[in-house]
Amino acid sequence: MPPIHQPRGSGAPRPRWLDAWLRRLPPAWLSDAQVQRLRPLPEPLWQNTLTQCPWLTWRSPRQLHQLRELSTLFLARKQFTPVGGLVLTDAMAVQVAAQACLPIHSWAMGLHPYSAFVGVVMQPEQVLAPRSWTDDNGVTHEGHEPLSGEAMPGGPIMLSWQDVQAAGRPPDGSPGSTPNDTQAGATAYNVVIHEFCHALDLLKGEADGLPPLPAEITPQEWRDTLWQAFDHFRDAWAHGDPIVIDPYGLEQGLSEFFPVLAETFFMTPKTLKAAHPAVYSLLSRYFKDDPANWAP
Ligand SMILES: [Zn+2]
Repeated sequence: MPPIHQPRGSGAPRPRWLDAWLRRLPPAWLSDAQVQRLRPLPEPLWQNTLTQCPWLTWRSPRQLHQLRELSTLFLARKQFTPVGGLVLTDAMAVQVAAQACLPIHSWAMGLHPYSAFVGVVMQPEQVLAPRSWTDDNGVTHEGHEPLSGEAMPGGPIMLSWQDVQAAGRPPDGSPGSTPNDTQAGATAYNVVIHEFCHALDLLKGEADGLPPLPAEITPQEWRDTLWQAFDHFRDAWAHGDPIVIDPYGLEQGLSEFFPVLAETFFMTPKTLKAAHPAVYSLLSRYFKDDPANWAP
């Protein structure tokens, strides 16, 4: 005799009409599990991203699976807005999403750390942003600053596609190279990781290089270790010695040092670990990732 009730859970057949109806809904109306099931990231697009960004593959298969699932959510939840005549393809969006999710992929918090912003504005290349500043004599100057990316509290994150493509390029003047390519730490360049680490820092409302930390890392340990590394690299740079980070990270205290360190941690992890094991270890605990263990 057949059972008089349908068992709940995995054994229950899901009506096909329900999935077809759910697929027509805006992604924002779907649960995370429904996004993964009904809007999976197409395999060719994912493989293309791994080819374009080989540093994403430097982790365990389990972590890579987490990164893919998080990227799928990112594409469903966050809005991409191309401006300046940029033609944005799915392949470009996946490439940005995967790199954006890299810093948080091991936290098992879904997209929650990125809940404070809704979208990504994509520019074809760097933009000139109006700036004013006051010098030591109290004189105010007006000018423009070239930006490869920008993260603002409560606003979208802006990225230059030309700079996204320049990630990890060696300083050989190859197409898409940036001014950073002529400097130390050039192969660690990654504007997506940089701006999304600013977004993590901004979760508290101000960018001071001290993002919200897990319970096992105290603000004191974070500050002490980062300032110690900051002094180490600043002194080496001042003496004309090569350093493994982009010297831009030494210009504005910890607020720029943290994103630049994160670029180096994910892009050239072995060199950061060799140059400053303590700061690598701290970032490894913070990001719950150990790319030096997997990097070639
Ligand atoms: Zn920055």
